[in-house]
Amino acid sequence: VSFADLKMQKTVVDPLRRSLQRGRLAHAYLFTGSRHECRDMETVARSLAKALNCLQREHDFCDRCDSCTRIERGAHPDMYWVRPESKSRRITVEQIGEFEQAVNLRANMARVKLGVIVDADCMGEEAGNGFLKTLEEPPAQTIMLLLSAEPQRLLPTILSRCLKIPFLATRPVAETGAPYRAKLLPLLLKFSARGQDRIVGAYQLHADITGLLREIQDSTRKQLEAEANLDRYEELDPKVRDKLDAQLQARVEGEYRANRERLLEELYSWFGDVLLCVENADEKFLVHRDQAGAARRAAAGLTYAQAAENLDAVEQIRDSLARNIPEPLALEVGLLKLAQ
Ligand SMILES: [Zn+2]
Repeated sequence: VSFADLKMQKTVVDPLRRSLQRGRLAHAYLFTGSRHECRDMETVARSLAKALNCLQREHDFCDRCDSCTRIERGAHPDMYWVRPESKSRRITVEQIGEFEQAVNLRANMARVKLGVIVDADCMGEEAGNGFLKTLEEPPAQTIMLLLSAEPQRLLPTILSRCLKIPFLATRPVAETGAPYRAKLLPLLLKFSARGQDRIVGAYQLHADITGLLREIQDSTRKQLEAEANLDRYEELDPKVRDKLDAQLQARVEGEYRANRERLLEELYSWFGDVLLCVENADEKFLVHRDQAGAARRAAAGLTYAQAAENLDAVEQIRDSLARNIPEPLALEVGLLKLAQ
């Protein structure tokens, strides 16, 4: 394995590699993406650590030398990993204190030390403030990586000091998403059309997507009701009928949520493709290659930061819904953040 083999996260690996080759890495990075990308984030963190310290290769890694194998085994003395405690799911003030001490020590064998905070959003305010001190006075020859699927929970003062690197969804989009994709695309194209007020466009998209969700809810309900064959209920005891009815409603709700998640996945992969187009990535990396032209038009005029924030906005909607924040609120807050 070397950098060239990390094809899964081209938008991540290429910019990091370029900075590495130019010797212009930032002091601190924030890797963000959905929960599904967490494993990739850790792989890239380890790869970066290896490339910075490999004894065989420059700006890349061999995965065989003493330094590379130690990093792979988690046994390198200059690589510090912090993870939430398994029980409380918190990163404690004590952990951050130890981290700060460790990264400030002279390196044992590394050229560049690496401090990685996995699930950085699990730092509470106190731990976060402790970490902020380390960020404000970064130790020499040290790179810090924050990994987070919910960056909006981090202190803004931490966010502003880290260079953000979004990880895009690499899972193949479920085939079941296809019927919505056809309906979603025109709405997204309308939104990204030039020459309209951003807020007006965002409200329109909000209305359009809300409408599409109602449509999905109705068709889900009709389909399940048809399968349940409600007519036969008439002959049943009212008590049994109520029970079956409640069961049906629960199924409708569950199925609707699954369909809603598919729609959001579509939305996410669309903004991911737009981000790739902003970066002039090759078409073969797009999730929806058939919509490459549209994604490129949507990308025109967007900065990398804007495109990355759009992706965050969609991720925030998914997070909010997962935490049972009411759908209208989750949608409004997320969609109104979108930039065109
Ligand atoms: Zn090596």
